[in-house]
Amino acid sequence: MNASNSINLSLAPRRRSVGVDVGGVVVGGDAPIVVQSMTNTDTADVAATTVQVKQLADAGSEIVRVTVNTEDAAKAVPHIRDRLRLIGCNVPLVGDFHYNGHRLLADYPDCAEALDKYRINPGNVGFRRKRDSQFGTMVEKAIEYGKPVRIGVNWGSLDQELLADFMDKNAKLAKPREATDVMREALVVSAVANAERAEEIGLGRDRIILSCKVSAVQDLIAVYADMAARCDYALHLGLTEAGMGSKGIVASTAALAILLQQGIGDTIRISLTPEPGGDRTKEVIVAQEILQTMGLRAFTPMVTACPGCGRTTSTVFQELADRIQTHVRNRMPEWRKVYPGAESLHLAVMGCIVNGPGESKQADIGISLPGTGEQPAAPVFIDGEKTTTLRGANIADEFVSIVEDYVARRYGQRSNAAE
Ligand code: SF4
Repeated sequence: MNASNSINLSLAPRRRSVGVDVGGVVVGGDAPIVVQSMTNTDTADVAATTVQVKQLADAGSEIVRVTVNTEDAAKAVPHIRDRLRLIGCNVPLVGDFHYNGHRLLADYPDCAEALDKYRINPGNVGFRRKRDSQFGTMVEKAIEYGKPVRIGVNWGSLDQELLADFMDKNAKLAKPREATDVMREALVVSAVANAERAEEIGLGRDRIILSCKVSAVQDLIAVYADMAARCDYALHLGLTEAGMGSKGIVASTAALAILLQQGIGDTIRISLTPEPGGDRTKEVIVAQEILQTMGLRAFTPMVTACPGCGRTTSTVFQELADRIQTHVRNRMPEWRKVYPGAESLHLAVMGCIVNGPGESKQADIGISLPGTGEQPAAPVFIDGEKTTTLRGANIADEFVSIVEDYVARRYGQRSNAAE
C-alpha cells in the first residue's frame, strides 16, 4: 500500500468549539467530552423524577435533561431542583421544550430560573410568523435568566417549510441532488441558521450548543461532519431513537465512534429504549464505555475478559468477571473521592492458560483462571509480574482483596502526595 491510498486511522484532535457553561459543567472548548442523559418519568411527578435524576447522576451523568411539556411539569421543576439539592445532588438540569416552551418559560419564572439550560427544537416552536416570535421569546428568556440553550434539530420534526423550499430549489437544478443529501443539508442549515438567529437576538456564542439528531448511522455521520465544518458552536452528539438492547448500543457506538475519532462532539447522549421496567442508567454506562474504550476519558476501571470457549466449561470464569466488573463499578463513587486516578485501573479476568497470562501481564492486575483439565490454580499478575497463585473455593474473595489493596496502595499514595 502506498501513502496515497493509505487510510488515516489515528485519533484526530478535537474540533475547536466555543465552550458553554451549563450549570458549572463546561461543554466544548477544552473541556472533556461530557456525558448526559434524560429522564423518562413524568416530570410533574416530583418524587419519581427526583429519584431518577439522582440515579442518573450517581451513574455518572454529568447533565440530566427532563421534559417540560405541561404547566404541571413546569411547576414541578423548581421543587425537583430543591429536593435534589437537599440530597446533595447538584447535577445541571436541562428543560426539554416543544410547542409551548415560550409560554411555559414566560408563565413559570421559577422553572426558567431553576433550569440550567433550555433545549429548543426549532421545528416544534410554531409556524411562520408565530415560529419566529415564539423562538425569539425562548431565546429572550435564556438571555434574561442567563442560561445557555441547545438548539436541537431532529429529523422527525424538521421544519417542513424549510425542507420544502430546499426540495423545490433542488428540483430546479440542472442536475438535482439525491433527496437524502437535500434533507441532510436542510437539517444542518436549520440548526446553524437558528443559532445565528439566536445570536442576532442577543444570546452569546458561548451560550449556544447545537445538535442535529437523526436515527440512521450514515445520516448522522454525514450531518455532523457537515455541521462541524460550518460552525464552531459546541456540538451535542447522539443518534436519536437508537432502539432497544444491543441494536441501540451498536448503532449508537458505530455512529459516535466515527465522529469522535474525527474530533467531532463535545457532549454525548445515548438514546436507548429501556426494556419495560428496565434501568435508565444503562444509557449513561454505555456513553461512558464508548468514551473510555476509545481512550477519550476514564470513568471506571475497565475489565478485560476473554469470551470463554470450550476450554472454560464451568461458569467460574464468567462469575468472576461479572463480580469484578460489578465490584469496581460499585466502589467507584468512593474511590473517586479517596483514590483519584483509580478510574484508569485496568483489570483482566481470563479463562485459561492460552491467552490468560499474556493478557494478565498487560493489565495492572490480571488473573488467569484454570481452564478445563488444567491444574486448579489461578496465577495473579500485578504490574506485569506474577505475584501469587490462588487456589480453592475463595479465589473470588481473595482476588477482590488484592484489587482493593492495590487501589489503596497505588492511588492512596497519589492522593496523600497531593495533600
Ligand atoms: S483465553 Fe482460553 S478460555 Fe479464554 S477464549 Fe482464549 S482459549 Fe478460550
